[in-house]
Amino acid sequence: MDPLFTVTADQRAILDAVARFVEKEVKPRAAALDAQTDPAAGFSWEIVEKAHEAGLRTMTLGPKWGGLGADSLTTAMVVEELAKGDIGVSVIFAQTLKIAQVMEKALSAEQQARVLPRFAADPRGMLAIGITEPDTASNYFLPHPAPFRTSARKVDGGWVLNGMKHFISNGNRASFYLLFAQTEPGRPLAEGATCFLMERGQPGFTIGRVHDKMGERLANNAELVFQDCFVPDADVVGEPGHGFELLGRFFPQSNAYAAATILGVACALNAKAVEWARVRVQGGRPLIEHDGIRAELAEMRMLIDASRAYLHRAAWLADHPAEGWDATLGVLPKAMASQAAWQIATWTMEIHGGHGYMKEFGVEKLVRDAAAFLHSDGVNRTLFLKAANFLFR
Ligand SMILES: Cc1cc2nc3c(=O)[nH]c(=O)nc-3n(C[C@H](O)[C@H](O)[C@H](O)COP(=O)(O)OP(=O)(O)OC[C@H]3O[C@@H](n4cnc5c(N)ncnc54)[C@H](O)[C@@H]3O)c2cc1C
Repeated sequence: MDPLFTVTADQRAILDAVARFVEKEVKPRAAALDAQTDPAAGFSWEIVEKAHEAGLRTMTLGPKWGGLGADSLTTAMVVEELAKGDIGVSVIFAQTLKIAQVMEKALSAEQQARVLPRFAADPRGMLAIGITEPDTASNYFLPHPAPFRTSARKVDGGWVLNGMKHFISNGNRASFYLLFAQTEPGRPLAEGATCFLMERGQPGFTIGRVHDKMGERLANNAELVFQDCFVPDADVVGEPGHGFELLGRFFPQSNAYAAATILGVACALNAKAVEWARVRVQGGRPLIEHDGIRAELAEMRMLIDASRAYLHRAAWLADHPAEGWDATLGVLPKAMASQAAWQIATWTMEIHGGHGYMKEFGVEKLVRDAAAFLHSDGVNRTLFLKAANFLFR
């Protein structure tokens, strides 16, 4: 059987458990958390702790560390299921699940032994990755020759970091971070950056603002600030000056997870559109009996199915590159799924008429959420340019 066109019994069992978790722990809390005015207050430790009890938080870690060793395709399915309940919850776990997967591959045996048991045992253990800076965003996706502003200077026994990152998902909630800083001044960031393993609370590392976002409010995004922060040599991940190679080697599935998150929002919107079209009667018939509406619902289904097929292919090939991975699969599935979600968001609002604009019907939250991945994990235009660079070098 082709793994891309089936859901195995094991995957089905995991997805059913995640769907129950979403019904019980996420959906009842989502609207109230989304409505919090303090941007930090949208995040819920209760949801994280319940996910820990369910084994969800660590499912990508290998059995050696107490996880399920879930592959990238299964993880993408889980991330989509979570986003059907709430995009922010999907994001906080997608980041953690992805970075745990990367840590198990990219950290040295000594680093793994130091960090992974602590992460696995902590019911609140979350992970984050810090690359984006106020002046360096699309520049690292493409990448542009400019260096990172955040720098690390070599000193005896380690490095001293200065600078800041912003927009970082789980930035104020993570216990461990992968952090990218310029270690070779004057070199392009792709050639002179190093990846560091960081821990929240280490001297010289503080959390700045928590960003106030229009949607995805159950996830926190924050600034990371480094002021003469000493990092020992033991916390360099890979080789100094070769941080960017880690991104290329260990993050192929990242874009597929982002696509899965936004696809979950598209599914939630579609479900609302179908439900409303069934119950709302205008012109003497339910909306679903009007041809224009029926055709739009069918087109939504096409966008969802095509986006899912694309991201599943990318997720599976990320784990089996010899079967036909190509670099565009690491950038385009998210662009497709987020465009589909945005289209579905506007149609769902239109199908709801004026009700779509009223907060009480729940479409408004999903429209704000649907905008999130036009920019997260790379602005779509940037990703198209990156794909073009792969195709027409
Ligand atoms: C909700 C959210 C979560 C995020 N989480 C993280 C995280 O966990 N970790 C992290 O490191 N980052 C994170 N980011 C950053 C994200 O990955 C993007 O890199 C970032 O949002 C780009 O933002 P910018 O405003 O600086 O865009 P800019 O880079 O300033 O781009 C602005 C516009 O210019 C276009 N543009 C840029 N360069 C070119 C060019 N050379 N040619 C043509 N057009 C160009 C872009 O496509 C875009 O339309 C997150 C962002 C968001 C919104």
